[in-house]
Amino acid sequence: MIKLTDPVTSLKNVGGKRAASLAKLGIRTVSDLVRHLPRKYLDRTKTTRPADLLPGSLVTLRATIASDPAYKPTGGRTSLTTVKLRDAGSESDITPGAIIEAVWFNVPFVRYALKKGRTYIFTGKAARGKSGALQLISPEFDEAGDTASLSHERIVPVYATTADLGQKTLRALIRQALDAVLDQTEDFLPNYVADSCALAGLVFALANIHFPADYDSFFKARHRLVFEELFVVQLALFFVKGHAKQPTELIISPADFSPALNLFPFELTDTQLSTLSQIQADFQSGYAANRLIQGDVGSGKTAVAMCAVYMAVSAGADYQAAVMTPTEVLAAQHFSTFAPFFEQLGVDTVLLTGKMRKSERDEALAKVADGTARIVIGTHALIQSKVEFARLTLVVTDEQHRFGVRQRLALSEKGRGVHTLVMSATPIPRTLALILYGDMDISVIDSMPPGRKPIKTYSVTAAYRPRLYKFIEKLVNEGQQAYVICPAIEESEHGGTSVLEYADTLRSALPGLRIAHLHGQMPQNDKNAVMQAFAGGGADVLVSTTVIEVGVNVPRATLMIVEDAERFGLSQLHQLRGRVGRGGDQSYCVLVSDTQGDVYKRRAAAMTATTDGFALSRLDLELRGPGDFFGTAQHGLPELTIANLYEDISVLEQAQAAARRILDSDPAMTAPCHAALYGRIQSFISNMSYQGVL
Ligand code: ADP
Ligand code: MG
Repeated sequence: MIKLTDPVTSLKNVGGKRAASLAKLGIRTVSDLVRHLPRKYLDRTKTTRPADLLPGSLVTLRATIASDPAYKPTGGRTSLTTVKLRDAGSESDITPGAIIEAVWFNVPFVRYALKKGRTYIFTGKAARGKSGALQLISPEFDEAGDTASLSHERIVPVYATTADLGQKTLRALIRQALDAVLDQTEDFLPNYVADSCALAGLVFALANIHFPADYDSFFKARHRLVFEELFVVQLALFFVKGHAKQPTELIISPADFSPALNLFPFELTDTQLSTLSQIQADFQSGYAANRLIQGDVGSGKTAVAMCAVYMAVSAGADYQAAVMTPTEVLAAQHFSTFAPFFEQLGVDTVLLTGKMRKSERDEALAKVADGTARIVIGTHALIQSKVEFARLTLVVTDEQHRFGVRQRLALSEKGRGVHTLVMSATPIPRTLALILYGDMDISVIDSMPPGRKPIKTYSVTAAYRPRLYKFIEKLVNEGQQAYVICPAIEESEHGGTSVLEYADTLRSALPGLRIAHLHGQMPQNDKNAVMQAFAGGGADVLVSTTVIEVGVNVPRATLMIVEDAERFGLSQLHQLRGRVGRGGDQSYCVLVSDTQGDVYKRRAAAMTATTDGFALSRLDLELRGPGDFFGTAQHGLPELTIANLYEDISVLEQAQAAARRILDSDPAMTAPCHAALYGRIQSFISNMSYQGVL
């Protein structure tokens, strides 16, 4: 008996060579084969009689070969093969119109494959030939019989496959695998979940996702498998993060932030204010705030964070707030924004990063521990066990998608009942937001501060560089600043324009300008000095690697040049572009690349067409495919194989509600009816930890 865990070679017709082809698809076991789901389907359900053919339609029909195939070389390697077909249902009765022709161009083997008098199933396009007779053009065909039943007269699955493994072969292997093991697949969903959510059983689902009996069965099968996938992801995340609101004694009330408001040189926008009133309500609710603040680059999330921090530290004499950032550059920038701001309010802020000198760090640690520092800003160095807070009340995580779930939790766990706000500019589909932040409330800042002009974006070749230098010079003479992003630090075998070279080239091309450079391998103090100089107008151009990708805010910078732009993904380009357009002046983004590649061209076209982060993320998903979107650890999720981020929101909501119900009634999942599910969740969690996404 064949088992699910057996290697594919235990199946008939699978030898070493075929196993190697399957391995290229990631298929090693019988179970992998069963879980290799179709990429799409062909509707071949409608069969037609030859007499009913309409020119132009795609049809499937059963027909008997009425003449020996006629083969005609037409010069060079080209040829024409023609055969007469008659309706399979009318063997002797040759009524006029029931005879049609099938033709193939340059498929010489057809003349050997088709035998007069035998019946085949054909699928192809009908057209009217020169003579006026109806023809099937280059149809696919199979002799009527068992294997044909997988590829014709039904909804036919189409799989991702390799060049050396045809669809028909793969279909037959999957059919064989299903027949061998379907009755062994154990349904790990508890019955009551399947019942209450009206889900099909696993056996039915697997059988019908591959070879749907009809449309209804297909939809039931897909619903079940989408549910299962989202349910497992969601339950695993809830299991790790907790899913219920945590009561807290840290009440932040009355939460008035007008003293902070008065210090901004601008008025907050309506969406900034409504986000703050949601935060206020969280703070006073008796439960720890757990809120995602999503807003496109430049929408003004920092000001919201500052008001929230103000509320926290003014609510209790010893209340502390921590702001965590993914990069040192961003931590330093926030520090230089927060420290003077809060100093005016009589509140002390310290910076804490991994690259600080020991004496500096010890001093900062002491202030955090004894409570003199009420605000601490830092990188993930904040998570380390040495860091102790007097009374941590609020944690704000900026650009949170750069952190794993556990890193974020680790900081909140340095206090009890800590309020958590996470900020993200990554525009992600709502489904993904619900999965990742299913335990959170979400605020969306969907408007920009007033007076912003859309950034003009251009895509050019390297030949444009001399003109770009002139453009830089012109803008600088008008009192503005520019960024140049290069993919490499110094010249290397991997190629790519390098920061050091480019900065030198610019220095000689534009001797009157002050050119600074920045990259991740510079000592922290040098990095800070460069950033501060640039932010304060002490340099005109900053040539940098992507260390400035997220969060950096220098409103006088109005030009962003990205060298070797093909090396960056769409979201990354959008983030980089977000470094300009932060003040009232017209800003520009120039993508430089000599690549002719299709994918890059589509990316560049999208960048020049829109500045809408959501539109770009959707396109990014299409260009990269969902696998890659998830595969990268940046979103903290594994690949989804069947669920669709845009279409399956309602199933996700159903799965999420079911996951909550389970954990409400059985938080540790020890009930016998949850045993199989528990095993599944645990292996999913360890897999995600192994991949570094949790
Ligand atoms: P992000 O949401 O990308 O973190 P920031 O918080 O860095 O954006 O804000 C971008 C710029 O917009 C900053 O220079 C900030 O001072 C400015 N800004 C924020 N809110 C407003 C507002 N309501 N009116 C005008 N400018 C604002
Ligand atoms: Mg920011």
